[in-house]
Amino acid sequence: MIDAQGRRIDYLRLSVTDRCNLRCLYCLPPTGVQPKAHGDILRYEEMELLVRAGVLEGIRKVRITGGEPLVRRDLVQLVRMLSRIPDLQDLSLTTNGELLAEVAADLRKAGLRRVNISLDSLDPDTYRRITRGGELRRVLRGLEAALAVGLHPVKINVVLLRGLNQHEVDRFVEMARSLPVAVRFIELMPLGEAYRRHEDYFLPVQWVIDRLGPGWHPVPGQGGGPAVYWGHPDAAGTIGCIAALSEHLCARCNRIRVGAAGEGYACLSRPPVMEFRSALRRGADLTTLRMLFRKLVASKPAGHAMARRHPALRRRLMAKLGG
Ligand code: SAM
Repeated sequence: MIDAQGRRIDYLRLSVTDRCNLRCLYCLPPTGVQPKAHGDILRYEEMELLVRAGVLEGIRKVRITGGEPLVRRDLVQLVRMLSRIPDLQDLSLTTNGELLAEVAADLRKAGLRRVNISLDSLDPDTYRRITRGGELRRVLRGLEAALAVGLHPVKINVVLLRGLNQHEVDRFVEMARSLPVAVRFIELMPLGEAYRRHEDYFLPVQWVIDRLGPGWHPVPGQGGGPAVYWGHPDAAGTIGCIAALSEHLCARCNRIRVGAAGEGYACLSRPPVMEFRSALRRGADLTTLRMLFRKLVASKPAGHAMARRHPALRRRLMAKLGG
């Protein structure tokens, strides 16, 4: 699908639940948010049909996300269903990793190729503080399991937080040296809980780039996504930086999002522009769903406009919109 700006849209981020087992302080309020009723969340069969329609319209990459996707029961089953869709070239998962160790092998067997693990601290206390209760030990076990079962590549996503994990950048760089993982530093966006605290916590990725020691060199053309990568002759892994706030990235945006209740998002900073659920429950066929995908893509704005700090950004929770 080509949008009004001439961008090729071939990447769908599919949220499978709006529930999360963590409450990261820049993402969700301490008490969480009211989850949607069970019946409002798309069933796996509905998701599969939706993805099939998207693939017929040119979607080639699907990332399963949430909420925390691994809190949804029997996610392995969905992975199995999606991995069988012809022409879907890349099926991946984004998780906080807390529940990964138990299911990594089954996910791999079901057809998952790769995984991104969100991990904002390598210190158990800081990790608990940022996630409001998470247990680092579990995530590290999840990471180990992902590597052991051959999920590849494994990417570690670190949201840079001034005064919270800033002092751990060197440890994360060390991780990229010793493990075959891509450690990616991501700029905090003024969405959800981060809207209020953005000025306190925001740290530009340039801060990391300026600290990379001798030997680290840019690796051109890796990934094809928003990250810019650095390699090192002695490193098993790589470092990536995602300047999430920069609107330059929008010129290369290739993605759409579908929330757990079937809401279609054309841009992560905007409200949903349409919803697939009622169409699915009215018995929509592939032709109708394909038309809805085209409509979604046609409504993609040129840029995210987050710099304008519209107060509505406070209601755009990454955990709700398939972050
Ligand atoms: N629970 C899964 C996980 O932790 O990866 C998937 C959903 S989570 C919302 C996806 C990613 O969004 C996480 O890496 C999280 O750090 C990131 N995120 C949430 N709010 C953010 C914000 N305001 N700015 C940047 N990243 C954010």
